[in-house]
Amino acid sequence: MTRRGNLFIVSAPSGAGKSSLIAALLKDKPADMQVSVSHTTRDARPGETNGVHYHFVDKAEFKQLIADNAFFEWAEVFGNYYGTSRVTIEQTLDKGIDVFLDIDWQGARQVKEAMPEAIGVFILPPSRTELERRLNSRGQDSAEVIASRMADAVAEMSHYDEYDYLIVNEDFDTALNDLSAIVFANRLHLAGQKKLHSGMLEDLLAD
Ligand code: 5GP
Repeated sequence: MTRRGNLFIVSAPSGAGKSSLIAALLKDKPADMQVSVSHTTRDARPGETNGVHYHFVDKAEFKQLIADNAFFEWAEVFGNYYGTSRVTIEQTLDKGIDVFLDIDWQGARQVKEAMPEAIGVFILPPSRTELERRLNSRGQDSAEVIASRMADAVAEMSHYDEYDYLIVNEDFDTALNDLSAIVFANRLHLAGQKKLHSGMLEDLLAD
């Protein structure tokens, strides 16, 4: 019997390093971990590939997927639609693979409601000053654009206490170790271990 994979919901404001942390965790393509590729109606950014970073669809296609109940969760984030495919998640978990959802707080709420055993991880930057520095790292944006990004970031951060784990990404390697520790510790959680080792436990505890 293989264990069922765990579902990790990872949320953070833009600038906290969420995508880089997930990418670093999956860098060596471990066979037992996968990041879910969402559908979105936003345009692809330079360097993004359809089917790899997102499945890029138009609004009509997205609405059809909602009507078909194809999404495990979906939300409108900053004017675009984003959603997680239901079938892919279930099939991947059934194969014993841990799945990472890089989604916002609205999606996280829906996932927790549908699957309370999903594990929520929130990533924070170490300070407001550092967040502002990261959001302005290209140094080309107007004060107005940066202020709007900060407001979006604060809105996302205000939901940190709806999650199970909190990582402060001050030092990248430390934060990566923290994320890895959460993933591996959860593989040893009692409920999963009991199912996986039921035969052995029966044997061990026989009179
Ligand atoms: P971006 O457009 O910068 O890639 O993502 C914007 C925000 O949308 C991020 O906070 C990201 O986590 C969130 N997001 C990406 N995919 C999904 C999804 O499938 N569902 C939800 N609810 N949020 C998503």
